[in-house]
Amino acid sequence: MAKKASGDKMSCSFCGRSYEAVNRLIQGDTNIFICNECVEACHALLKKDQKQVLNKPIGKISAPSQIKGRLDEYIIGQEKAKKTLAVAVYNHYKRLIASSSKDGVEIEKSNILLIGPTGSGKTLLARTLAKIIDVPFAIADATTLTEAGYVGEDVENVLLALLRNADFNLHRAQQGIIYIDEIDKIARKSPNPSITRDVSGEGVQQALLKMLEGTVANVPPQGGRKHPEQQYIQMDTKDILFICGGTFTGIEDIIRRRIGKVNIGFDAKKVDKGEESFADILSKVEVEDIIDYGMIVEFIGRLPITAPLMPLTQDDLIKVMTEPKNALVKQYQKFFEMEEAKLEFSHEALVEISKKAFEKKTGARALRSIFENFMLDAMYHLPSNKGESSFLVSPAVVRGEIPLLAQKYRKTA
Ligand code: ADP
Repeated sequence: MAKKASGDKMSCSFCGRSYEAVNRLIQGDTNIFICNECVEACHALLKKDQKQVLNKPIGKISAPSQIKGRLDEYIIGQEKAKKTLAVAVYNHYKRLIASSSKDGVEIEKSNILLIGPTGSGKTLLARTLAKIIDVPFAIADATTLTEAGYVGEDVENVLLALLRNADFNLHRAQQGIIYIDEIDKIARKSPNPSITRDVSGEGVQQALLKMLEGTVANVPPQGGRKHPEQQYIQMDTKDILFICGGTFTGIEDIIRRRIGKVNIGFDAKKVDKGEESFADILSKVEVEDIIDYGMIVEFIGRLPITAPLMPLTQDDLIKVMTEPKNALVKQYQKFFEMEEAKLEFSHEALVEISKKAFEKKTGARALRSIFENFMLDAMYHLPSNKGESSFLVSPAVVRGEIPLLAQKYRKTA
């Protein structure tokens, strides 16, 4: 039993009340005591601190113009999409701060829909955003998802990916960004709502809808299909920012038809004659076009911000190769530098690469494989042939007519 604190009476070292005045007095070190009431007061204090930490938004939010500035370092073109995303992300994270204030004003969540051709930078935009503001990020593919109970993945697995990327830190994961690719592939197959079941189309839209709106989802920690005996992690999706992306192939015809119907005038004539470029048409996309395409109204309602991405021109492709912080040309030059060699690209070679990529019609996606083709041999032989040389990538090298290592053009000093 405890020793007496001072004189004859034991008392709480925190509030000073005596042994008789409290229900319980717990002894720490010799002559140190704490009463039950002080324990409770400390507990409440700690709980409050913890609540404050949990309410605290994660991530580094800077002004939309600064976010856009950072995006510019990695993404070529796509001005409108970058601006739209910068504002949306800024507002999203401001919303988290507002929701932890006490005035009761709740700003609604604004998920984002990106529409643009393959290889125009949709995934890159979402990934770069997450990196800039330092929140967990996950990518999911809508085509792998099916309605619960059917062959394929449950939508909750999308959340699991985010949780994993946040090292199972639930607080961080619940404020992360999820990019769902190929969202257009879950468009309704027929214009009439479910006569037969449409498990990979409308059904998945319905399943994703809840997640986009904000729900507490049961996430199976091991992944895979859910089963009744399993323990779930409860994950709240209300503060997760969802960015959905899709190519929406053929949507330009829907847009054209709509503009043709409402506009009689110069614009409409240009549209009718097919004089407007694909990019011009795409920039006029409206929610009703997306619904016409087969997305259900409620689903699109949960993606109130739409940003179109333009197809990259040949000039853009040259910039993609050379300008971003981690541009391919810079990466290969770094490899060479590490082998004490130098690598240069002639402008004509860059044009040749952009031409090849452009013909493949997969935007900037084709660039890496084109580089790999003519660089492979050099990357193989260079490490065993060190010698402070400089090499020049010419159009002939790009076309595979001359090996790169034969293009040694001068000894560096
Ligand atoms: P999408 O998701 O639109 O199909 P991605 O974002 O996956 O295209 O792009 C594939 C690759 O192409 C990216 O990793 C990036 O290297 C490059 N890329 C695409 N668009 C751009 C762009 N606008 N600026 C810089 N690089 C780009």
